[in-house]
Amino acid sequence: MDIREQTLADWGEFSFIGFLRDRLPASHPELLLGIGDDASWWRPAGGEVLTTTDMLVEGVHFDLAYTSAADLGWKSLAVNLSDLAAMGGRPACVYLALGLPGTTRRSWLEEFIDAFLELADHYGVQLAGGDTVRSETLVISVALNGIPAAAGPVRRAGARPGDDLYLSGSVGDSFLGLRCLQGRLSVSGPAGIFLRERHLRPRPRVELGAFLGTSGMVNAMLDVSDGLIADLGHLLSASGGWGAELEIENLPLSSAAREALRAGMCDYPELLTGGEDFELLFSLAPDRFPELAAAVAGVGVELTRIGRITSKPGIFLLGPDRLPYQLDGKEGYDHFQTRDC
Ligand code: ADP
Ligand code: MG
Repeated sequence: MDIREQTLADWGEFSFIGFLRDRLPASHPELLLGIGDDASWWRPAGGEVLTTTDMLVEGVHFDLAYTSAADLGWKSLAVNLSDLAAMGGRPACVYLALGLPGTTRRSWLEEFIDAFLELADHYGVQLAGGDTVRSETLVISVALNGIPAAAGPVRRAGARPGDDLYLSGSVGDSFLGLRCLQGRLSVSGPAGIFLRERHLRPRPRVELGAFLGTSGMVNAMLDVSDGLIADLGHLLSASGGWGAELEIENLPLSSAAREALRAGMCDYPELLTGGEDFELLFSLAPDRFPELAAAVAGVGVELTRIGRITSKPGIFLLGPDRLPYQLDGKEGYDHFQTRDC
């Protein structure tokens, strides 16, 4: 039998952990002790640590019918990198806890780990430990540690009336990609591939986040994971209940999303509330943008002004004609209030 066809039950927990250790690159300068003991030991360069954790559960966050092992390995780290970027920090070491059915194939696990470590290596992040247990459904829990910028982390709190709101990249692609994967939308050719990729292989804005953190110019920031409107709401309530005005026409849309919109395959409310774009949303005083734009030009991520913070609470949308625009119904993703996940 091809060894890669073995199940995890045949392969065994400790052989799997041995395989993991063999896959790791040479040790990280900050990590004094990694996989192999009862706990890891590390010495963070700046003396301060940011920690974030995110969990992915089969049937809730992903469907194995259209998510490969490599997609999942990539995404389980990417979502954590995005959270750390949203604090303006630099990622350093990561922990991976897995709940796996005994029937999981060795080949599946190898692909999962290879994609996870490919992304980790890309950002110089070291896998420092984790746990592996048997479970009925697949559960992946990742914890990521990182180093805040010298000026301290960029928090959700801190937006002020008069600030401009900026968004990196484009919004709504992941929602459209998910619809394609679910067979609810049909987009062929490179546009279809692009949209699916945006859902399955999100590119966390690691360099941009660290750059914005170091700049000291950003007043408030978060990553857009629950949908633009929901996450903007989180930023506003953390900042003390201010409001915001968003200009729909200024939303950064990819050409694939723009084409889907033009063809009537989706509408603005869907793009504004669809989740998992993993872009950065931040606010800053308007007079700071030219300096910031010059400083981040080398990062190569587009930044778009999408609106501004107002002293009047609530989120007000301005339509193409600058008339008020209404969102009907759902405003974003809430794990305990969502029927359609
Ligand atoms: P313990 O029983 O003391 O919790 P384990 O046998 O669970 O130890 O783990 C042994 C070592 O392997 C530990 O250093 C642990 O961090 C590491 N480890 C276990 N599972 C994983 C995993 N999925 N990813 C990374 N490291 C892991
Ligand atoms: Mg253990």
